Formats: sequence, C-alpha cells, structure tokens
Amino acid sequence: MLRHADHIFTNLHGHQEWRLKGAQKRGGWDGTKALVKLGREKIVEIVKESGLRGRGGAGFPTGLKWSFMPKQSDGRPSYLVINADESEPGTCKDRDILRHDPHLLLEGALLAGVGMGAAAAYIYIRGEFYREAMHLQAAIDEAYAAKLLGKNACGSGYDYDIYLHRGAGAYICGEETALLESLEGKKGLPRMKPPFPAAVGLWGCPTTVNNVETIAVVPAILRRGAPWFAAIGRPKNTGTKIFCLSGHVNTPCTVEESMSIPLRELIDKHGGGVRGGWDNLLAVIPGGSSMPLLPKSICDDLIMDFDSLVSVKSGLGTAAVVVMDKSTDIIKAVQRLAHFYMHESCGQCTPCREGTGWIYRVMTRMAEGRARVEEIDVLESVTKGIEGHTICAFGEGAVWPIQGLLRHFRPELERRALRGPQAMAAE
Ligand code: SF4
Repeated sequence: MLRHADHIFTNLHGHQEWRLKGAQKRGGWDGTKALVKLGREKIVEIVKESGLRGRGGAGFPTGLKWSFMPKQSDGRPSYLVINADESEPGTCKDRDILRHDPHLLLEGALLAGVGMGAAAAYIYIRGEFYREAMHLQAAIDEAYAAKLLGKNACGSGYDYDIYLHRGAGAYICGEETALLESLEGKKGLPRMKPPFPAAVGLWGCPTTVNNVETIAVVPAILRRGAPWFAAIGRPKNTGTKIFCLSGHVNTPCTVEESMSIPLRELIDKHGGGVRGGWDNLLAVIPGGSSMPLLPKSICDDLIMDFDSLVSVKSGLGTAAVVVMDKSTDIIKAVQRLAHFYMHESCGQCTPCREGTGWIYRVMTRMAEGRARVEEIDVLESVTKGIEGHTICAFGEGAVWPIQGLLRHFRPELERRALRGPQAMAAE
C-alpha cells in the first residue's frame, strides 16, 4: 500500500482549494525556477531513471519518448501536446486531476516542455469536461498573472506558453494523431505512421503527446528524485498510479496507489470489496474497456502493473478497473462494448469500419441465443482479421474485449448458442 508521504495527488478528491494558493500550500510551484534550470538533458535523465511509463494506456517509457524530439531546431518550433481527452469507458482519473489540482499539470507541462525543448504546450481537453476546462483555464490565467508561465517563466529565462483547446467529444480524438488533426481544426482522423509526431506532429512540427497523469507527476519526480519514484512498485513498473474502480464494488472510487498493488488488495481496501464478497466475482476488466477481461481465477493472484497484465494477455491500459460479479451477463456486457466501438470507429479502414459493425451484430445474436456454435470460430477469425491491419490501435482496442471473452468464457458462448432464444426467453 502506498505510504501517505508518497502521494503525489494530495487533492485528488477535491477536499482542498484547487486554485494557485491551494496548490502552493501543497508544495506546487515551489522552486520551479531551479527545476527549469536543471536543463533539458538533466530533466530527461532524471525522468528516464525514475522509470516513468506513460499513464495514458500504452505504457511507453516517458523519458525515452522525450529524447526522440530533435536536439537542434531546423527552424520549426517543437510542441508538447497534452492529451486530456480521457474517453476510455471506465476511466475517470485525469478529470479529477484537472478539476481538483490543475496546477500540478501546468507545472508539469512547463518542466516537460523544458525536457523536450518545446516552445509551448497545447492541452486538448474533451469537450464534455466543462468544469474541468473552466478550472484549467482559470489556473492558466493565475499562472500567467503570477509570471509562472509566459515570457521568462518563473524567472528562469525560459519562455513558455500553454493553450487550452476544447474538443467536441469523439473517442477517436484520444488517439494521438487524430488528436493532432482535431487540434489543427480538421476532422479527428488518425494519421498513417511514420512519420511519427516527434518528427512531424502539430502543424508539421516536432511534437510529443503525453497523457495528463504522466505530465502531472513530473514535478514530484524532479523535486524528490528519481530513486524515490523508482522505489515505489517494482522494476520497470515504478511509481504511483491512479486507479479507477467501478462496477460491482461496494465503494466505486478513484485512488492513487502504488504500482504493482495486488488487485484484490486494491478492490478490498479502496472499493469496499466485491459486491457479495470476493467469491462472488465473475471477471474484471483491468485497464479500461479495450483491455481483455480476466476471470476470477486469474484475478485471485494478480498484481496491477504493465508487465504483470501483459503476462496474462491483458493490459494495464488506463488502470480503470471494471468489476463484474456473478449477476453479470458477460456476453451482453461485451456486446455492449462492441456497440461502443462500432459507434466510435472513424471509418477510415475497411477492417475496422466494417468489422466492428459485423462483430456487434454477431455479438447481439450471441447474447440473445440466436447464434450457432460454429459462428464462435468465425467471430474469432474476424477479430484476427482486424487486429494489426488498421491505421491506428483502435482496431486492437475494439477486438481485444471480444478475444478476452472467447479466451475465458467460450463454454458460456457455446452453452447459450445451444440453448437457443426460446429457452432464453422462458428463463
Ligand atoms: Fe479509424 Fe478504426 Fe482505422 Fe483507427 S482503426 S483509423 S478508428 S477506421
């Protein structure tokens, strides 16, 4: 369990003042000038040593990502873009940071900007996050008024601007290149890669896109040192992590914990336990809706970090834990997710555009007992036809929940197919 002294997000639940005064009381913007003066190379070195991996879903090493940005400008400015589009079902962590501790993000944006040689940061926030956007803009205004941002930020000699941009609320705009398109005022359609954003990003300039939580932990890492952060969790899976607990737990919540905490401890300690007790657990989606679900037998001894979850063919993703007890119709639950992905596909690639609709229709028949047993294999092959054959990772996100269902609940799919719709209606 995370020690009280190790918490970074000390106002995650909004019990204290979110404005500049409150943030400063919690230690924010303290000695930032000296941290800026560490300079680009040192900042990247510390972040690399801390072991920080991106908190938006992919878990890519943050310091390494920053090091891809050009060291010498060819005349184009470099940008940091912060992804505050949090749209993954089950995920509700970044919005708490934005609403209750926006200065953590702003200070992090400045320091990360120095680390990658950026001239400015753009924060792309999901349109529905109205209050979050209001707080963030107010915090930006406060920071400019206090000379923490803008020309000679914090008196460091570094000029740095932060702009807030509100999106219109499309899931696909959380994909980094679709986000850049949207930020440029175009339709949020993912770009082909390469070139990667570090070479050609926002308005054709070198750009790094990072998640809110990733950037918000940077000041604490620089202030307290890489060894402190690296000592939390386990090697390659370090630091604190915000988990979102929802579904069939007694007390759904958002909580900052140590990386690599056992799932059961996380649910029992912070979620008040599974509804009806641990033995009433059916399955868990461990990292937001696009990560494959895991049955109770795997959850019993599961630890919550990147590598542990990959080893059981799932992923930490956004660390949004959706708990399902034995009252859940697991086929219907996954069918509902299939509807979401069908709706959110941007439609550029045929496998994703056509496949997500096909999957939803088959899943609907499966949920209603109107599918044939042979169709289970066809469903699996269609998911393989989408995975790895699309422009962006949405294709994987759309089929992994289905693959998780097939991997762990195939007998249930077969039972329902054999039982038929009449029997189901009679139940
Ligand atoms: Fe669009 Fe889907 Fe292709 Fe991504 S995978 S670009 S969401 S059609």
